[in-house]
Amino acid sequence: MTLRALLPLAQSARFSLFMPFKALNLSEPVLRGVQAAGYSDPTPIQLRAIPVVLSGRDLIASAQTGTGKTAAFALPVLTRLGAHGRAPRVLILEPTRELAAQVETAFRDFARFTDIRPLAVFGGVGYGLQRSELKRGVDVIVATPGRLVDFLKTGEISLRDIQILILDEVDRMLDMGFLPVVKDIIARCPKERQTLFFSATVPPEIAAVASFALRNPERIEVGINRSVNASVNHAVYPVAHHQKFELLEALLAKTEFDSVLIFSRTKHGADKIARRLKTANHSVAVLHANRSQNQRIEALAGFKSGKYEVMVATDIAARGIDVAGISHVINYDVPENPEDYVHRIGRTGRAQAVGDAFTLVTPENASDLRDIQRFIGQKIPELKLEGFNYAPIVAAPERPPEQRGQRGGGGQRGGYRGGPGSGGQQGRGSQQRASEGGWNRFGGEGGGRRGR
Ligand code: AMP
Repeated sequence: MTLRALLPLAQSARFSLFMPFKALNLSEPVLRGVQAAGYSDPTPIQLRAIPVVLSGRDLIASAQTGTGKTAAFALPVLTRLGAHGRAPRVLILEPTRELAAQVETAFRDFARFTDIRPLAVFGGVGYGLQRSELKRGVDVIVATPGRLVDFLKTGEISLRDIQILILDEVDRMLDMGFLPVVKDIIARCPKERQTLFFSATVPPEIAAVASFALRNPERIEVGINRSVNASVNHAVYPVAHHQKFELLEALLAKTEFDSVLIFSRTKHGADKIARRLKTANHSVAVLHANRSQNQRIEALAGFKSGKYEVMVATDIAARGIDVAGISHVINYDVPENPEDYVHRIGRTGRAQAVGDAFTLVTPENASDLRDIQRFIGQKIPELKLEGFNYAPIVAAPERPPEQRGQRGGGGQRGGYRGGPGSGGQQGRGSQQRASEGGWNRFGGEGGGRRGR
């Protein structure tokens, strides 16, 4: 049977998951790049997005990070580019510097058997290197909006020849207040182009941008956006606010971990946790928007190499970071937005490895936790750490709905959600005593981890 005759078979749902990259019409050098990256089978988003991107159609794809979405656009884009040209032909917008750097690295990896030149353009570092690379000539620009605009103003980047425009993590980009600048950048690109949107969630604001940026887009949804990665065991640990750090230390002491990513709602909180963990002799890296680019690079590299066993991060800084082998995620603070819960715990259990995610929950977080459980459609098992000297947990008064789940940080650039003390945890009065395990009306009997 010829390959052509096999294709319809391979395209049927039953066989699609086993269809290797070869059948996707990627160019030979790109296929070699994929092979060198060690990928054998495409992920579902790759299977569905690659043919659309190759066809030249516009696309809105909703897929979480960790699903392989970078290769889903990088591979067909590199195939379409072919060889190095005289001007940038692809522009990818990313909400954070970390993502821009990561996507650039992926492009370099996949393009290693071509002469295509990708370049990450982001702030927080000097202009010199990026400027000299631009002068040498690049094909793919992976940029955060701020630095891109700087180079557009000086004329060092022109979008005149852009053929493919990609907005990655669009939901987060809009959440960070980038909408006006993103619209301006889109308007500067040629009208005749291919436009791709990748986003974990597709809220109505995105539909509004899509309507002027995209032409008759194909839509792809992979997985359920609200779903928690099945390879992650997650649990909540109820605790009184003043015992949070003590419980964190006890959890670290009692858990066998390789590497732990700890989430704080605020930059200030992240620094404080890191300081205290260092005092307790843990090797700790910190990642948040106030750190310099060099500090961030050092933190990530040190965490990846195992120099640091623990990394403390805020949501935006950690969004999309790809570190293999994170064995545990600990939410020191309950995330304010339910979708961040899914993103945070998606940092562990990536690529089918099994990971654990713990969330410390104080009575003040009861409503946030309920929102998360409603969002993911499941109750998160509740655990108690054996041998920990729990202080009585006191129920907190309900927060009015209008104070819950608000998106902080709209309009902040490279910022974070809520400033120090804005996380709504500190100093909330506790009025009503409740028996242990009974205060949290979100249920859960204790124990009951999801089976591996
Ligand atoms: P992403 O969603 O693009 O951040 O990718 C998540 C992780 O999955 C990265 O470490 C990728 O290198 C890895 N990955 C992506 N596609 C594949 C594939 N087809 N086979 C194996 N690993 C993959």
